[in-house]
This record gives sequence, structure tokens and C-alpha cells, in this order.
Amino acid sequence: MDSKNTLRCLCKQRETKELKVEGDLGADPIWCNRCNCNLEIEEVPISLDLKSELIHWMGKYGEWIDWDNDDEIVPNGIKFEDEHNKQGLELTNKLQKELGGDYVVIFSPSSFARRNACK
Ligand SMILES: [Zn+2]
Repeated sequence: MDSKNTLRCLCKQRETKELKVEGDLGADPIWCNRCNCNLEIEEVPISLDLKSELIHWMGKYGEWIDWDNDDEIVPNGIKFEDEHNKQGLELTNKLQKELGGDYVVIFSPSSFARRNACK
């Protein structure tokens, strides 16, 4: 059956209703939580507004990383990351609302800055 509301991925059942929002470089912000594949945000049945919010959010991923300096964190990096995680959680809630009860959406916060601050 090919319904418009079916999200296909690499899972055995080839459609997923378990999604994860996670920031990563050069990827789309929505993942299948079963097989960890990166889903095309274009295929996710949500509003354009929310899509662009998610893409914008993704574009800010890594602002706390100092790429020129061995991937150290920038000053106040933990604060940036916390803020980004807070927004990500809000977007996850919006996503869950738009997708409705058929889907389960979880948020996977970034912990790069925290991990690296403890070195
Ligand atoms: Zn999958």
C-alpha cells in the first residue's frame, strides 16, 4: 500500500513511525529511530513552516564547535549547545503535534560541548 502518509526508510518494514530529531552536520534533522537512517525532510508530512524551522535549527548545529582549533568548544560553547537543545526539544514537540498519535517522536540532544568541556 502506498499511502501519502507513509515514511519510507531502510527498516525491515520499510516504513517508520518512530522518529528522532537530532542535530548533525550535513544531514536532515529527522531520523528513523529504528534503523538510524536519515530521512528526507521533504517526505515528512508536516507543514512547510515547521520544515523551515527545523532546517534553520539544523543550520545552527555546531555553532559551539571551534573547527579551527581541533574541534574544541568555543567560549560559552555549553551555553550555545544548551540553547540549541532547548529549541530542538520545542521543535520535537511541534513535530509530534503535527504528525499526531500515529507517530512517536523523540529528541536526541547534542552533548558535544559537555563531553569536550570535561576533558
Ligand atoms: Zn528505519
